[in-house]
Amino acid sequence: MAPADKKKLDQTHADAVAAPQRAVKDAKGAPAALKAGFDSPVWEEMAKPCIGCGICTFLCPTCHCFDLNDEVTGSTPLKGIRVRTWDNCQFPDFTMHTSGHNPRETTGERLRQRVSHKFRYFHENFGMLQCTGCGRCVSECPVGIDIVAVVNKVAEHVA
Ligand code: SF4
Ligand code: SF4
Repeated sequence: MAPADKKKLDQTHADAVAAPQRAVKDAKGAPAALKAGFDSPVWEEMAKPCIGCGICTFLCPTCHCFDLNDEVTGSTPLKGIRVRTWDNCQFPDFTMHTSGHNPRETTGERLRQRVSHKFRYFHENFGMLQCTGCGRCVSECPVGIDIVAVVNKVAEHVA
């Protein structure tokens, strides 16, 4: 890269970090706020419009959940293959057990999982947030659910 282009690139990055269009009000305090707000009614309230389409997670550059299935491909002799596909924590059956029990039955519980994974659990495990701030989940959600607004609202409720 030409030095002039590199300089321009570095300046663009610095400007973006210095002046985000929108940001979580207290990113450092977000993990503790989401922990304290685990039972907040805000989750169900903000998840009401969610249709469970999964766009937010399929587009997210840091989402990585997958499913494994064994599929029969022949009967004599019996043959099969193991297939790995993307999966999605916003789907109603993502956590469905064989027994029929589903620990995340509601849209609020599923929204809480998605947001808490980015802003709490990943930080607890690895010391950093799992959201790059790309905004894809916000701009493409068909019902306008906004991860920044959710984190801010849970934090406000806890405070
Ligand atoms: S804004 Fe964060 S949570 Fe949303 S798609 Fe980008 S990295 Fe994922
Ligand atoms: S993109 Fe919006 S409507 Fe679709 S699953 Fe995500 S939060 Fe729900």
